[in-house]
Order: sequence, then C-alpha cells, then structure tokens
Amino acid sequence: MYLKGVGPVRAEGLRRLGIVTAGDLLYHIPHRYEDASTVATIASLETGMQGTIIGTVVSKGVLPTRKGLRIFQAVLKDDTGMIEVAWPGQPFLDRTIEKGHVLLVSGVVRFFHGRQLQPKEYVNLGEDDSGTAHGRVLSVYPATEGLSFKIIRGIIDAHLDSLLPLVTEYLPREVLAAAGVVSIGDALRMVHRPASLAQALEGRARLAFEELLFVQLLQQRAKALARETRRGIRFENRRDLTTKLRESLPFQLTGAQGRVLREIFADMCSDRRMQRLLQGDVGSGKTVVALFAAMLAMENGFQAAIMAPTELLAEQHLRSMTRMLEPLGIAPILMTGSLKTRERREIAARIADPAPVLVVGTHALVQNATEFAQLGLAVVDEQHRFGVEQRKAMGAKGEAPDVLLMTATPIPRSLALTLYGDLDLSVLNERPPGRQVITTALRPESARERVLEFLNRQIEQGRQAYVVYPVIEESEKTDLKAATTEFEVLSTGVFKDRRTALLHGRLPAEEKDDIMRRFRDGDVDVLVATTVIEVGIDVPNATVMLIEHPERFGLSQLHQLRGRVGRGAAASFCILLGHVSPETRKRLDVFVDSDDGFEIARADLQLRGMGDLFGERQSGVPTFRVADPLRDEQLNERAREVADRILTTDPELDAPAHAAMRRVMGERYSRSFELFRVG
Ligand code: ADP
Ligand code: MG
Repeated sequence: MYLKGVGPVRAEGLRRLGIVTAGDLLYHIPHRYEDASTVATIASLETGMQGTIIGTVVSKGVLPTRKGLRIFQAVLKDDTGMIEVAWPGQPFLDRTIEKGHVLLVSGVVRFFHGRQLQPKEYVNLGEDDSGTAHGRVLSVYPATEGLSFKIIRGIIDAHLDSLLPLVTEYLPREVLAAAGVVSIGDALRMVHRPASLAQALEGRARLAFEELLFVQLLQQRAKALARETRRGIRFENRRDLTTKLRESLPFQLTGAQGRVLREIFADMCSDRRMQRLLQGDVGSGKTVVALFAAMLAMENGFQAAIMAPTELLAEQHLRSMTRMLEPLGIAPILMTGSLKTRERREIAARIADPAPVLVVGTHALVQNATEFAQLGLAVVDEQHRFGVEQRKAMGAKGEAPDVLLMTATPIPRSLALTLYGDLDLSVLNERPPGRQVITTALRPESARERVLEFLNRQIEQGRQAYVVYPVIEESEKTDLKAATTEFEVLSTGVFKDRRTALLHGRLPAEEKDDIMRRFRDGDVDVLVATTVIEVGIDVPNATVMLIEHPERFGLSQLHQLRGRVGRGAAASFCILLGHVSPETRKRLDVFVDSDDGFEIARADLQLRGMGDLFGERQSGVPTFRVADPLRDEQLNERAREVADRILTTDPELDAPAHAAMRRVMGERYSRSFELFRVG
C-alpha cells in the first residue's frame, strides 16, 4: 500500500493492526465515538420518539420483576430535566455504570410510569463531559504503540474521499431492504465521518449485519452439508428400556429434562443425523438425559458410548449409571487408557461385537484400536474440555452415530446459535428440586484466620473441604499464593492434624486420579488444588470451598468451581478470600449474588469478552470485528432469517445476483468458504 502521509514507520504500525491494503484501512472501524452534536434535550423527548441524549447518572439500581427478569435502571439528568433509562435483563450494568457518569444514550421513549428511555445503544463517557459533549462527533480508532488513534484518524480522514468511490455494493438490494441497513459506501462514510452519533450507529449496524450474515451463511451451509452427506440412523421409540429406566429412577425428571429428551428423541427417531449441543448449568442433570438417549439406542439394538474428559469422571459416570441401570439388568462397561492390556483387549472385543452395550470412557474411546460394531449414539460430556479434533473423532466412530455434546458453560441462546451454528441446541434451564443454595461470600484478608477455623469446624463435623489456588508454583514476579507453597503452610499449620493432599495439573494423570479417588472415598479431609477440580466431580460430603485470589478467575469459572460443593444434604459454603480492589469486588459480587450460570456468563461476556470465556480450546469459533452477537441480538436474528432465505433459493450461492457477495465472502473467509463448492 502506498498512501500519502504513510511512511515506513506508520506502515509498520498499521500492519500490526492488520491494515495492509487500502481496503483494510476503510474497514478499520472506530470502536467508539466522542461527543454528539445532534443530542436532544431531555425535556424535549416525547413518548414514541427516537432520540439521543446526554445526561449524568443521578441515581441507579437493579429492580427485580415478577417474572424473575432483573432490570438495570438509571435516572439521567441534563440542564433541562430528568428521564429514566431501563436496560431489561442486564443487571450487571450496575457494576460499570456509576452515579456521576455521563452517558450518551440513544433509543425509543416509552411510557412506563412516566417517560422511560429504552436504549438501543449507549456510550459511557465517564465522569467528565467537558469538551466532548459539544462540537462534532469524533471517531476513536483502535490504535497501537507509536500510532495513536489521532494519527489513524488523520490518515483515514485524508484518504476517505478518494477511497470511497472505489467501493461497490456487494450485498443484493433485497437483502439491504430486508435488513433495513444502508449501502456499504454510506456505511463506511457514516462510521468514519458521522454527522451524528445516530448516523455512526446506522453505519455500524450495516457492517455488523454483513458480518453476522456471512457467518450465518457459512454455518447454515455447513449444517446443510452435514445433513446431506450424513444421513443418520432412524431409531424407533419402543418404550422398552427407556420406560423401564423412567420407572426405576428414584426421582421424577424435571420439566426441562422431559422437554430436552423429547427434542433428542425426535432427532434420533428421524433419519437425519443428530448433531445436538445440550447446555445445562452445573447440577442441572445432564447425565441422566444422556442415559435415556443411550437406552433408546440400545433398545434398537445399537451401542452407545459416553466420553468424559478425565478417568475419574468416566469412573464416576460408570458408577452412577451402573446403579441406575441395575434394575434393567444392564451393566455398562469402562474404557480408559489405564486399563491393562488384557482388560483392554477384552473390552475391545466386546464392542467389536454387534450386541448392544453402553461404554463409558475417556478419549481412549476414540483411539484407533477401538472399533465399534454398531455405534448408534456418541455422547461427549463436558465437551468444552475437548479439542475440536477429539469431538470430531468421537462422531467419526461407527457409521454416522447420532451425536450429543454436553456442556456446562452456559451462554445466551443467540450467542450459542452463532458460535455453534452447525449444531442444534437444547437447554436445561431448570434444576432438580431440593438442590440447596450454596452460601457464598467474599471475605477480606483480615478474616483469614476465622475462615480457616470455619473450615476446621466443618472437617470436625466429618465434612471435607477444597482450597483452590489460581497457580501452581510461586513466581518471583507475583505474590500469588501458589498451591504448592501454600500447601506446605496449611498442612503443617492450621490443618496439621488433618489429612491433606495437593492436586494440580502438572501431576501425572494417574497420580491426579489417585488423589481424587482418595478424596472421594473420604481418605482426605482438605484438598488443596488448582482449577483441575473444575470438571464434574461429585463428592457429596465436600461442603466447603475456599478460593484464594478470586480476582484471578473468570466469573463462569468460579461458578463451575462452586458447583463442586452443595452436592449432598448438608449446608454448603463457597468463600472467596483475598484483598481485592473495589472494581474487582463489584465484578465478584455478580458471582456472590447469583447462582444462575446463564446470568453469570452474560456478565462475564460483558466484562471480559468472549476470549476469556472460551479459552484457546474453542478454536474454530468465529471472531467478529464489528458485530457483537450478544449485543446485536436483533441484527443477528435478522441475519439468520435472511441467510435462510438466500440459501433456500440459492444453496450454492451461484446465482448472478449473489456473485459479488460470494467474492467478498471468499476473500474474507477463504478457509471456511470451501463449503461452497468452488468452480
Ligand atoms: P450435571 O448437569 O452437572 O452433569 P448431573 O447429571 O451430575 O448434573 O446431576 C446432578 C445430580 O442431580 C445427580 O446426583 C443426579 O442424580 C441428580 N438428578 C438429576 N436429575 C434429577 C431429577 N430430575 N430429580 C432429582 N435429582 C436429579
Ligand atoms: Mg456432568
């Protein structure tokens, strides 16, 4: 790229931002704006109007509603008056929006006990509005070292007029009309040089929409291909083993379990292959759902396999399933890496025989030597702990078995559909009755002694405790209490009369499993551990969890950890201990105050972004430059509808009207784009 005003040094900076061509420069979109010249006064807003205002927060709070929805409300004031602004379902905004903050809000005015502004968009301008609230709208760009957003703005501003005429529309006219978004040329001008904030948002909406549309097209295509090429087994609901299981269970299925099972059975009894993701909060009862699906496969003469991320978890499943299936005269078998060669050969022989069987295991199940004669159902538990390849390998066993993926990482439905667009989604949004609330508290460093004494008393009563640390070994740079050093302190100090053990990820797998087994069997009172205990371990006698350095954990991760206690009849506790900043305290309060995994995940997403929630394992998750599938829920919905319509009439995108769009998608998503046959 050669542009005036861009020498080698700036070009290098731009390259770091991913800007190599003039086109990249045009698509380097401001991530926020300052000012708003077209702001209405609060007094002038009338019911039914769309408007943008700037006001200072004079009061705020979270209101519960009868339906359980929580609403964040703030009252904004400018020189002319006050108005209430309400964000339904976003109680976590209470952590970021403060009294005295100046907000720029645009939305619709409704009547609800008075005027109420329902925001479509808002920008928090912080404490001080001097100089930003008046004058023209300024674009603020993602910047890099040595290349400030002002320089970037200068470069873009200088070239915008000559570059824009080179851009031609690539979305079909009907699509623009259906989505209600502006053309690409207008959009780019609007985001870079907006006359008002509303205009900037309008331009952004177009860019976000096209991004969501492209991802939807790619994913729906992937889904269609999967269905086309892989027909599945058509099971028949014989109501034999499944009915027997239902009758022998010591509990009634929850309404949510019943609904999810109907969804799963409908898939399994169609000739389409099931590819379903089951989401359910910790303790929502996913295992028994998998078990019913397995019984449906078996009563049809097929085999079923359930893969878990650790040996311990596989053993635990084997144990609970053996118990539940005993009345049916079925004994599930275990397949893990630590079996002796002979046992392993025996089990391999059994599953190579086409008789119905239920196998529970680890990734040993997908190793090459394991050949299923008649695999009808493959279940992957805690699927987020596996890599994409392992999940695929499980589905590749046998001949097109139905696949059920299960996860306790709860994410909002709209986001799930975007991230896992090629899967169908079922959600367990109800917990079995009688589950107790885990008393959760954040305690300061000064309470350490009392907290440890509390743990001791629990142990005296015959209970067990977890103590969790974020890292393994103390590093010189940080003063984090590492599990190993602190284990020494605890086991020779306050817990010197207790049976203690240390568990962390660097131990060999066998040793880890052995320690967990001892804890499960009650031979260890205090388990000092890193997050390796996060996954589905069930020790009902463990009633208290102490988490050190809670600021180092994501909220969803804390929620998963907390799910390790409260599994028995006794009252249970989760204590976060440490000295935290007021900011962090607010974040942690979301976790302390809520036991709803979905609400917690939503807050996590807002506060820390998607990367933290999914980690590096979830590669293959599309990343968005402009769109935010969580905030742009409505645009995302529209994108899905439009993508549906396009693919119904033109599944290969080879109609001339789609040629330009096809070209742009090809350039942008070259790898995924192979789904649309090339040439
Ligand atoms: P998760 O969804 O976290 O994997 P589990 O499947 O381990 O949850 O279930 C947690 C506990 O709840 C288990 O002890 C299970 O037996 C029990 N459970 C599951 N469904 C019900 C139900 N409908 N009623 C009562 N208890 C149930
Ligand atoms: Mg589970």
